[in-house]
Amino acid sequence: MKRKNVLSWDEYFMSMAHLSALRSKDPNTQVGACIVNPEKRVVGLGYNGFPKGCNDDDFPWDRKGEFLETKYPYVVHAELNAILNSIQDLKNCTIYVSLFPCNECAKAIIQSGITCVVYESDKYNGTEGNIASKKMFRDAGVELVQLTYQTKIEVHTEKN
Ligand SMILES: [Zn+2]
Repeated sequence: MKRKNVLSWDEYFMSMAHLSALRSKDPNTQVGACIVNPEKRVVGLGYNGFPKGCNDDDFPWDRKGEFLETKYPYVVHAELNAILNSIQDLKNCTIYVSLFPCNECAKAIIQSGITCVVYESDKYNGTEGNIASKKMFRDAGVELVQLTYQTKIEVHTEKN
C-alpha cells in the first residue's frame, strides 16, 4: 500500500520557501521564496538578507529612523535573491513566496520570465506598492494563485 496524504506539490514547494525563510536574520520579517521550473524542479531559493559580503553585524535591521540607519536601502528581498541565485533561465517558471511580492520584486519576477506567482499572505493588500505589483502582474499576464491554507513546517534543532 502506498502512502496517502503526502505533501501536494504546492505544499512541497511552499514548505521549501518557509524553510529558506528560517535562514533570514531579520528580527521582524522572514520571507522565503522557491522557484520551480515547468518540470517541477527547484531552480532557485532565497530569503531576505543583505548582499553577499555585507556583514550582518555591520548593517541595521531597524525599520524606523534615518534612512541609512534602517534596513531598507540594503536588504535584498527573498524573491530577488531566489532569481539572482537561480541556476537556469526562468522562462515559464513558478515562484512560491510566503508573502505577496512588493512592486520592486514584481518587476524582477516579470523580467526574469516567471509566469506564475503562488503566495500565502497578502498582508499589504490595498497599499500603493501592492496595487502597483498587481497592476504590473496583470498587464504582463503573470498568473497569481493564493494558497488558502497556511503551510507550516517545524524544524527541531538538536543542541548538544
Ligand atoms: Zn520585494
